[in-house]
Amino acid sequence: MGEHLCSDPQEGVIQYDLEYADAHHIDCPHFAELNGWRSYFYRLGLIGQDPRRYGGMGFGNVSHRTDNNAFVISGTQTGHLPLLCREHYVLVEDSDINRNYLRARGPLHPSSEALTHAALYQSSPDIHCVLHVHSPLLWQRAAALQLATTPPRVPYGTPAMARAVAEQVRAAGGQEGILAMLGHEDGVLCYAADVERAGTLLLETVVDAHRLDEHYYTHHA
Ligand SMILES: [Zn+2]
Repeated sequence: MGEHLCSDPQEGVIQYDLEYADAHHIDCPHFAELNGWRSYFYRLGLIGQDPRRYGGMGFGNVSHRTDNNAFVISGTQTGHLPLLCREHYVLVEDSDINRNYLRARGPLHPSSEALTHAALYQSSPDIHCVLHVHSPLLWQRAAALQLATTPPRVPYGTPAMARAVAEQVRAAGGQEGILAMLGHEDGVLCYAADVERAGTLLLETVVDAHRLDEHYYTHHA
């Protein structure tokens, strides 16, 4: 049973053409590691939901490649949950970035940013994990931290964003990296060959950002 829906762009959340099949169970081979890191980032405030931020919308999502360019991603509007279960993940089986199209199967719809994850997996076969968090700390220091960025005029959840992300991955060599989306407030992407590496890389960059601030306050106090 398939369901085809074009979401309301007014809503500003899900902006893609989604072909969705409801399924109780999907295979999520790296569930424990992925969900473990996701819980950790929730506790750090990098994934969550806050009435004072982004109009109260949930933010942040995590994914892992399965076969080819298919991937498992945390479902839409799960940001407020401290701990996710298998029922909160959905399989994105196919996608077409230029058409803003996703085909997914699972217990709930994929996160609104699944198209951006798809762009990362399609841009390099070496990428197996993508973490998307919201961090004012990293986002505001993107230049000082020498992070790759996508242009401020490119809004998230659009084919233009997917293309901009893919471009940056190719420019960085495709293996792993951190990317600040300047057209998506506080939006940061981290991608790597596995979950452990992606999680570690993101944490290391957070630590670097704190060091940068310490250095600044030590020398400008
Ligand atoms: Zn986001």
